[in-house]
Amino acid sequence: AVNDSEVTPFSVPGYACQRRCTLENHNAVLTDALSLLAENAELSDEDGRGVAFRRAAAVLKALPSAVTNMSQLTGLPCLGGHSLRVIKDILENGTSSEVESTKESERFKALKVLTGIFGVGSKTADRWIREGIHNLQQLRDSGQTLNRAQQAGLEHYDDIKQPVSLAEAEAIRGIVGRAVASVSPEAQIVLTGGFRRGKLTGHDVDFLITHPEEGSEVGLMPKLVSWLESRVSFYAALLISKQPKMIVVMFKSIVTFSKILLNVISGIFLYGQKFRAVLEMGGRWRAVRVDLVVSPISQFAFALLGWTGSKLFERELRRWAGHEKGMSLSSHALYDNKQLSCLQGRYIRASSEEEIFAHLGLEFIPPNERNA
Ligand code: ATP
Ligand code: MN
Ligand code: MN
Repeated sequence: AVNDSEVTPFSVPGYACQRRCTLENHNAVLTDALSLLAENAELSDEDGRGVAFRRAAAVLKALPSAVTNMSQLTGLPCLGGHSLRVIKDILENGTSSEVESTKESERFKALKVLTGIFGVGSKTADRWIREGIHNLQQLRDSGQTLNRAQQAGLEHYDDIKQPVSLAEAEAIRGIVGRAVASVSPEAQIVLTGGFRRGKLTGHDVDFLITHPEEGSEVGLMPKLVSWLESRVSFYAALLISKQPKMIVVMFKSIVTFSKILLNVISGIFLYGQKFRAVLEMGGRWRAVRVDLVVSPISQFAFALLGWTGSKLFERELRRWAGHEKGMSLSSHALYDNKQLSCLQGRYIRASSEEEIFAHLGLEFIPPNERNA
């Protein structure tokens, strides 16, 4: 038996952007529980509580082995009273009653289903719930007016809920790459988001597009959109999101991409019309969410860092920049707020992620270790 005096407490730095966190998680039971509470808080518009649970989960994800004893957690950052109670409950009883009752609550279940519809946020879901709508059938029967995104989201609900595989992401990379090349031959496209961090599945596929010549990226997105739009037989819906420079494409693509079939598809894709025939012979259709972002080359490193994630890693990078360095970091720029002699602060240039970490006084963390 282990007695408390023999237990060595874990130790981790306070910010997630100071920690190396691969996809290997020795505390998945605990972090799943805390993530569920975070999700519930976020769906209830309690973002502060949500972040607190996310930070606590990230600390546990970064530990080198499984927590077996509460005393190992002494001195760890970001573990508030609430998170510690949940952890203690699970270590002692195998489950947390709060997590179990949240999971089973009608409200949580309804919020998850409704916000799972592309284009539906927690406010809309909450309003529908108050009107007695708890599931997709009730939504369809209710006669609620849905915007274009929500209509497509409802129509493709099952497809979008199903995780995207790495093979699909790579296939879509080929297709989008071809589209980009035909509207702007010099343009570059990179896979960002979870797949860049080494994940094998994702809820979408994220691409960042740039052009080696500053300014040549202007107008690229609308060209890309119309190129894709002109191949209507190919995809289900094209949705322009509220954020500038970001569109979501819902692809109809096949579930299984064998290499050979993919080559056939890429070859025939250029001829638009014939594409559908191949697909119909070759496999099933499914809708996939794709996020496309275009960045000028001068901002590329910031965009790459900002769109690689994880979401918490990004949030912690910005918190570090602001609280520890007096700087503001975004997906566009790094800005030094400390230039007191000038009226304006100062933009700091960087042409690689490594340079940005260096400007922030942080050790470089490669993408596969940003899985906070
Ligand atoms: P998954 O594999 O489930 O898709 P992910 O890590 O790729 O996970 P995304 O939601 O696709 O998650 O986000 C990818 C990155 O893009 C994250 O770092 C996130 O911070 C960033 N991001 C997402 N939406 C926005 C936005 N509207 N503005 C700026 N950055 C965003
Ligand atoms: Mn993603
Ligand atoms: Mn995304």
